[in-house]
Amino acid sequence: MGTTARITAVPASEARAGQLDAALETAEAELRRVEARMSSWLDASELSALNRAAPGQPVPLSRETLDVLRTARSLYERTGGAFDATCGPLIDLWRAVAESGRLPERDALARARALGGWAGFELGDGEARRTEAGARIDLGGIAKGYGIDRATGALREAPGVHGGMVDVGGDVRVFGASPSGEAWRVGLRSPREGEGAWGSISVSEGAVCTSGHYARYAEIGGRRYSHIIDPRTGRPAETASLTVTVLAPTAIRADAWATALSVLGPAGLEQLAGEPGVEALVVHGNPEQPRAAATAGFPPVEDLGGFPSVERRQGRRNAVGSDGTS
Ligand code: AMP
Ligand code: MG
Repeated sequence: MGTTARITAVPASEARAGQLDAALETAEAELRRVEARMSSWLDASELSALNRAAPGQPVPLSRETLDVLRTARSLYERTGGAFDATCGPLIDLWRAVAESGRLPERDALARARALGGWAGFELGDGEARRTEAGARIDLGGIAKGYGIDRATGALREAPGVHGGMVDVGGDVRVFGASPSGEAWRVGLRSPREGEGAWGSISVSEGAVCTSGHYARYAEIGGRRYSHIIDPRTGRPAETASLTVTVLAPTAIRADAWATALSVLGPAGLEQLAGEPGVEALVVHGNPEQPRAAATAGFPPVEDLGGFPSVERRQGRRNAVGSDGTS
């Protein structure tokens, strides 16, 4: 997945020697399997096979890859098209732009845009088809989250484990007991380059994923171009959001919503009203004087140095009390 993973298992008091090692290994194997199936960087992955199939040719896929594709398709609807895994041709186009330093031709941009959308793929039973040559799916905004979910599941089921955390490149999911015995603390990265965590939140269960334009971008003619595409324009997302952190019951949803809100900016927080359990924090504005907006149910942020005060958006629906009442 092009990043580093850190898996933590907290032993149960009765854990036997070797159980934790075995637990960590099964969790790691889950991450590696998901990567092997869903990475568009690996020619041997199921996703790559689908992306190069002749139009109409059925490509056999594992159930989990089909599940992730179906989830990606439903998130396309739920995010109003902001999360679009079919924007592979645009991702490739802008990656080439970043390498060459030259902006794309109008025709090339129009062609790549026309290849986007779920009409280019049919998802069936145990197989999928590409219906248009050149259409391409990129699961870079969601597969990591799915891998984190699977690895967490393996850890949770392993004997001798009372709690754990799976952290892939700063996206995490936690469950059960933490090493300190308190809730898990998850750091929030500053949008300013070279700075570490500038805030943290306390989470006892669930996933926290962050997307940021600051992290990966190309610079052409003094302008920064994000690695996240705005499917509405076919161009790199404007940096309306500097970083987006999403808390959700599963990492697949947190991952996808973080990418979507990077496109939508703080205005997108309103769209979470229909997504129970999903809470988000958007850091936006000028990186030197950033502002922060969050849904009502996002946990309080502990300031570790310069964290802006958080404006709460979207009142009642997500304001669930700790006893589960609204
Ligand atoms: P993340 O770091 O989770 O925000 O994912 C960013 C990655 O998702 C990019 O590197 C692309 O592979 C892919 N991507 C870019 N734009 C989009 C988009 N609008 N919808 C879905 N995936 C995207
Ligand atoms: Mg994402």
